[in-house]
Amino acid sequence: MRRSEEMRGVRASTRPEFAKACREALRLNNLAAKYHAEGNATRPEKLYRRAWEIQESVLGPDDAAVAVTLSNLAAFYRMVGRFRDARPLYERAISILETVHGAAHGDVAVVLFNYGELLKAEAAAVQARAKEIEKSLREMSDPRHAAKTVIDAGKARFQLVTGVSRIHRYGVFAAEEIPAGRLVIEYTGERVSRSEAVHRWNRRRTYLVKLDSYWRLDGSVGGSGAELLNHCCEPNTRLGVRQGRVWVISLRRILPGEELTLDYRFPKDSERIPCYCGAATCRGTLNAR
Ligand SMILES: [Zn+2]
Repeated sequence: MRRSEEMRGVRASTRPEFAKACREALRLNNLAAKYHAEGNATRPEKLYRRAWEIQESVLGPDDAAVAVTLSNLAAFYRMVGRFRDARPLYERAISILETVHGAAHGDVAVVLFNYGELLKAEAAAVQARAKEIEKSLREMSDPRHAAKTVIDAGKARFQLVTGVSRIHRYGVFAAEEIPAGRLVIEYTGERVSRSEAVHRWNRRRTYLVKLDSYWRLDGSVGGSGAELLNHCCEPNTRLGVRQGRVWVISLRRILPGEELTLDYRFPKDSERIPCYCGAATCRGTLNAR
């Protein structure tokens, strides 16, 4: 710390505050690292970011300590699958360390190695996604599969049809105009307890919605077709409970031919599922942030 202090000509009168800020950044970093090591998927981000902010303001943006925090935050993003967020942080950390220590320094090698691990994980995820799309297409070419994707017209208040989605497999489309704020289709399914829902949930079976504090509906059993609604980060419908029933409610006017979408908002601490909805504000995950 003293080296940077001298470099930046910090006056003697500001030194106690400077030392205090450095201690605070170190405390935040250590706390973040503790949660990070425990596999906590939410807490480290804010702590690392706050440490980064403090270090930048007292040490300047190009200090080696900043690079260490950036590299830690990047490792956290890699752990939770946020590869796109991790990449620029590793690149910035490498650039800082090369400038401060030179290209042949051991710290540069450590961060380069971790950056390489990120690229490998990212490559594996990209190829897994390609395989998943191909598998979906194979399954969808089976007529028995298409037969399952039907709308129960008795549960719908507007004409809806199913069809091949641009987002994921099959989706639900408006066959007529739907004004904003209307009950569109009832979300039906087997009533299961909250704990049974936790037991049933997995990334391939995401048809569980909340009815009240105790009951959930599993749309994969006795679903009206509403369970086929795909996720979008800029949805045109939402779920709402009316007199003990779950409804899909239009958030805006929906035109004929438009796909109906919902924001799934999976818990932020559950398994992270990447999103490819294509919305301008796509947050990159089906989980809430
Ligand atoms: Zn999205």
